[in-house]
Amino acid sequence: MLRFARPRIVVSRCLGFAHCRYDGSVISASEVGAMAGEVEFVTVCPEMEIGLPSPRQPLRLVGTGEPRLLQPATWKDFTDPMQAFAHKLFSSLPPVDGFVLKNRSPSCGIADAKVYSSTEKGTAITRRAGMFGQAVRDRYPKLPVEDEGRLTNRSLREAFLTSVFALASLREVEATGKMRNLVMFHARYKLLLMALGQARLAELGRIVANPDRLPAGDVLHRYREAFEEALGRPLRRPSAANALLHAFGYVTDGLSPGERTYFLETLAEHRAGHVPLSAPVGVLRAWIVRFDVAYLADQRLFFPFPSSLLSLADSGQGREPA
Ligand code: SF4
Repeated sequence: MLRFARPRIVVSRCLGFAHCRYDGSVISASEVGAMAGEVEFVTVCPEMEIGLPSPRQPLRLVGTGEPRLLQPATWKDFTDPMQAFAHKLFSSLPPVDGFVLKNRSPSCGIADAKVYSSTEKGTAITRRAGMFGQAVRDRYPKLPVEDEGRLTNRSLREAFLTSVFALASLREVEATGKMRNLVMFHARYKLLLMALGQARLAELGRIVANPDRLPAGDVLHRYREAFEEALGRPLRRPSAANALLHAFGYVTDGLSPGERTYFLETLAEHRAGHVPLSAPVGVLRAWIVRFDVAYLADQRLFFPFPSSLLSLADSGQGREPA
């Protein structure tokens, strides 16, 4: 039974936690609710934190360039209070592993909040991150940040879960301050890093090898920087196929010719973009269990987060690895 560290995730409070929206409602976000038993949520409602009630008159982003956060019904400008709140929150937050924010919100949106040219009625001129969402992106540029809409896409959701569980696990290693634990961590993530690209794997391997005999704290710091950078890049199909072929080498002796052909065809279909990465990964996962391959069973490429979070639900909107 694999043990997973518990990620700490900051989440918009209206996503199932409180009736704090402008109209007094709460949103049912099943992908967020499903995580509840496996992660530690830190809930936040930026608009209520700056003193607004629920229900309230809605806010909107107004202006070209750097828009302001205005309340058209009252002409009030909440830009400065929102930025001050974000600054205060970030300085008091414990280390976190990711964010799930409410999409389209002028405060919490991460990319798709409407921006208007004025407070008058009219159509949006563009979309961008909400004021709090942008502050999150500026303060935590390498951490996984998603909204509840994107998490309905299976590939995006699994990439997010993989990242937050990896970062939580690294946080546990950092708390021990021990190089031995970092070496074990790196070994568990070796194939996942290979799937992200050989260059990243090699760079992180060099940091762990520590040829300059740096103190453990320095090595852990450098490793985190490079690991966050690596996780922030999407899996690429050729690199992922390379990692899966490497793993295939551990089980191929026990397979029939037909099984080998089936796997290689599935892998080719993935490389061509016809099936998701989960197809060849699922086949290998079954053989890892069947042949009891301890090395692969410990690889987070195959078991990146608790199986209770595996879900086939998929909105079909979003991207597979390129
Ligand atoms: S989107 Fe953000 S600010 Fe708006 S209700 Fe939800 S948590 Fe509060």
